[in-house]
Amino acid sequence: MTTDSWINESLYPDWGQRFLVKRELARTQSEFQDIVLFESFSHGRVMVLDGVIQITERDEFVYQEMLTHVPLLAHGDAKRVLIIGAGDGGVLKRVLQHSTVEKAVMVEIDGEVIRLCQEHMADIAGDAWTNPRGEVIVGDGIDYVRRAADGSFDVIIVDSTDPIGVGEVLFTDEFYQNAARILSANGLIVNQCGVPFMQADELRETSIRRAKFFAEVSAYVAAVPTYVGGFMTLGWSSKAAGLRALPAAEIRARAEKTGILGLTRYWSPEIHASCFHLPPYIAENLDQA
Ligand code: SAM
Repeated sequence: MTTDSWINESLYPDWGQRFLVKRELARTQSEFQDIVLFESFSHGRVMVLDGVIQITERDEFVYQEMLTHVPLLAHGDAKRVLIIGAGDGGVLKRVLQHSTVEKAVMVEIDGEVIRLCQEHMADIAGDAWTNPRGEVIVGDGIDYVRRAADGSFDVIIVDSTDPIGVGEVLFTDEFYQNAARILSANGLIVNQCGVPFMQADELRETSIRRAKFFAEVSAYVAAVPTYVGGFMTLGWSSKAAGLRALPAAEIRARAEKTGILGLTRYWSPEIHASCFHLPPYIAENLDQA
């Protein structure tokens, strides 16, 4: 049975993707944003926040694997991980796949996102919600980093919405300054920086801000089918230099040790080793950093 209702993404006023809806699962206006979850014919279940595609069951592995495994393996001994946003639980699941991680704290502002994903997209997080090494807090990421102790995390992963609405505070000097303060000596932070072919400002501006507080600022890429417009960029900011340039063999050895080798469908040691090589149209947005 086909329906004739389409959901059109409203991220760009003059261009976008659309999904034929098989079944609408939930639609609500939370304290923070408009939330829609639906079953599609093409990409499984999909979550939309304020008209912007956040996650689909069919391609979430691309973004979540690159947002998680690259920083954790580059660090090499990440025990304490802070996750900001990521209400679908997919990043929490992948962080907890690393046997070296002792504690993962996830801070998501919107409890409705967590509840609806647990109800309608449960496979994305699996049993991560009840893992004793995980802690889930409903709260604003900026408040959490303001209060956290100096040097209390090894890696911070920011899987937020774009810098509009509730997500805007996560792209500010105050956020990056506190992030640098609460990271350990060779700590690092990664954050979603948009699709530069359409959102170059996002990468450029966040790189200039991050460069004020971190020794090394760059970005890496992943091709996420439903983040339309070509490569998605993930911002990289580290307190120590040299964590980006690891050979594939070293990355493979670390992945073996922490137990994620064979669990991935996009990330591989070779993809990891090459993802920092940026096309000039993307690299030029880091020049001012
Ligand atoms: N991968 C998606 C992307 O790149 O557009 C993001 C997915 S994830 C679901 C985004 C989450 O960030 C949402 O659940 C949203 O509620 C959360 N979020 C936005 N602003 C936040 C804040 N200030 N503190 C904590 N979580 C926040």
